[in-house]
Amino acid sequence: MKPARFDYARPASLDDAIGLLGTEDVFAKALAGGQSLGPMLNLRLVQPELLVDISRLPELAEVGEENEGLTLGAGITHAAIEDRRVPDVTAGMLPRVAGQIAFRAVRNRGTLGGSLAHGDPAADWVTCLAALGAEVVIRGRAGRRQVAVADLMRGAFETGLEADELLTAIRVPRLAGGARWGYYKVCRKIGELAEAVAAVVHDPERGVYRAVVGATHGSPIVIAEARDAGAAAEVMAAAAQGFDDYETQVHEVALRRAFQALEQG
Ligand SMILES: Cc1cc2nc3c(=O)[nH]c(=O)nc-3n(C[C@H](O)[C@H](O)[C@H](O)COP(=O)(O)OP(=O)(O)OC[C@H]3O[C@@H](n4cnc5c(N)ncnc54)[C@H](O)[C@@H]3O)c2cc1C
Repeated sequence: MKPARFDYARPASLDDAIGLLGTEDVFAKALAGGQSLGPMLNLRLVQPELLVDISRLPELAEVGEENEGLTLGAGITHAAIEDRRVPDVTAGMLPRVAGQIAFRAVRNRGTLGGSLAHGDPAADWVTCLAALGAEVVIRGRAGRRQVAVADLMRGAFETGLEADELLTAIRVPRLAGGARWGYYKVCRKIGELAEAVAAVVHDPERGVYRAVVGATHGSPIVIAEARDAGAAAEVMAAAAQGFDDYETQVHEVALRRAFQALEQG
């Protein structure tokens, strides 16, 4: 199928883009890499009247490294992270996860901000970044706010973003020297979304031992005090909503293997 008719705008600045979004009379959607929005337009699952192309906004390409961590513009692609064209403060977790997203063609265009704003529970960044304790910077007509990645999703394909708001950056805390991480996703074929995802981050110096289970029916499950795979699986089972026996088992396997990867890492 082909998309329904829409108008197209490529604003020159972030403020101009925000000005075009969330108006009462025009249903507008931001277009970043188009890797999720494109298929949705073609299937007519979404029919905006106006596409606001944010893919060339310089503000969304900015990168900053500070002592506390890294700020990545929301327009940074998965491929730029995979290729280490941006700095890494996570002992290799960000590049490794980026390299596991779909195919190279998707990674060349798909962006951090687009992935988080799309709100797919099975996406990689929401689980990985929630485990790292990352935050998103959001800009809209009302100003700027910052939200933990773990709190951004409200349900499957639902986020707390208002219609006039854009994700502008992702702030990732720096892991200390002795920190370790593990990441595992169950995915039958490359290019298909995951059946289960688990990420674990242990940073003793910062008092962090966090596990996150993704590919749920809604928001990721954050286990703040994860000590081992067994204890984490119990917390997950109590928190998970709507998992059948197979889903519970496959998520337990993902958690166990993420902990194994952390121990071996
Ligand atoms: C074949 C295929 C396989 C895939 N496999 C995986 C996978 O294994 N793992 C995975 O994680 N993902 C996967 N994806 C999704 C991919 O990672 C997309 O890149 C990502 O989900 C969307 O990013 P985008 O930049 O293309 O956003 P777009 O498609 O342009 O936009 C997606 C949504 O986010 C909104 N949006 C975009 N940017 C912003 C912003 N800065 N602020 C606010 N709203 C914004 C748009 O309005 C739209 O609603 C796959 C996609 C395809 C096509």
